[in-house]
Amino acid sequence: MIRIHYRPNLALVLLIVAIGVTPAAIASTVDQWGSLQLLGREIAAGTSSKFSFIPDRSYEASYLNMPVFVARGAAPGPVLCLAAGVHGDELNGVEVARRAFAQIDPQKLHGTLIALPAINAEGVRTGNRYLSDRRDLNRAFPGRTGGSVAALIAHAIFTDVLSHCDALVDLHTASNRRANLPQIRADLSDPEIRELAIHFGLGIVVGGSGPDGSLRREAAKAGIPAIIYEAGEPFRFQEDEIARGVLGVKNIMAHLDMIERADREIPDARVYERSRWVRTAVGNSGFFFPTAKLGDIVRTGDSLGKIVDPLTDAVFDVISPISGEIIGMAVPQPVLSGYALFNLAWHDSD
Ligand SMILES: [Zn+2]
Repeated sequence: MIRIHYRPNLALVLLIVAIGVTPAAIASTVDQWGSLQLLGREIAAGTSSKFSFIPDRSYEASYLNMPVFVARGAAPGPVLCLAAGVHGDELNGVEVARRAFAQIDPQKLHGTLIALPAINAEGVRTGNRYLSDRRDLNRAFPGRTGGSVAALIAHAIFTDVLSHCDALVDLHTASNRRANLPQIRADLSDPEIRELAIHFGLGIVVGGSGPDGSLRREAAKAGIPAIIYEAGEPFRFQEDEIARGVLGVKNIMAHLDMIERADREIPDARVYERSRWVRTAVGNSGFFFPTAKLGDIVRTGDSLGKIVDPLTDAVFDVISPISGEIIGMAVPQPVLSGYALFNLAWHDSD
């Protein structure tokens, strides 16, 4: 089994290497565990803290005024980071991060839990997927110091927080007017990431490394194993999706030996390497009424629902062009040609 080990303080190790201390001595320094320095704050071992990313009071600084939750364990261990609200309208993840953090007792914690539960804080308040300058923050990572607010926020997160993380769980939902079956998305070609994905314990993992500039992809490129939990719809809190996310975070923490959980059960995961969208056929626009549901296993040629043209009363069947499991879908709504209706995932050997 591959395990993620926490990194000893790099400066300390470099200092020790520079003065020629043996590897055994380095290992012993790892046992020295104390407070965490983060964003100009000191969080003592065995305590937790909630504060703003930057305390400055200015118009510009308000964009970086996201909440930061830190639990510094009483005992050494890895640093797990939770990210949510990168898309501000995706609320399930915001609540997963808050509840998971609230359930952690720093006195019993091995390692550190850092949660950024509302990265696009303005978007969370106003129900906006994007930043107020209409940029998608989840295409701006790792960011840069010159550029738009998206680039500045991304750079600050990457430099000041992600540099501490040994593993990352990014929490999302489907986008506007769609719903996702609770699932983990992960780059299955990386054994450490695959291991994290399986140990979330959800039972379904979909492969893919994510788009350029997304937090997960860029974190993985920077050497931090990262996965996404995708569950449900935007704009609302959904209890089942939140509860499964909280459980998954605790499963990961138990897997990393950060907390004890005697009752942990990891089901066999359905691992899908491929996924694709079934779209409205050209000319078949109208009102969409699905009959298939999230989690259905469908076969090539199955009817997934219908689209009714309200002017001609023509009825168009939505036929599955492939076999697979429905991991995402549009809710009933008016649709135009090319609109993405069902996201199907399948295993390479299916
Ligand atoms: Zn998202």
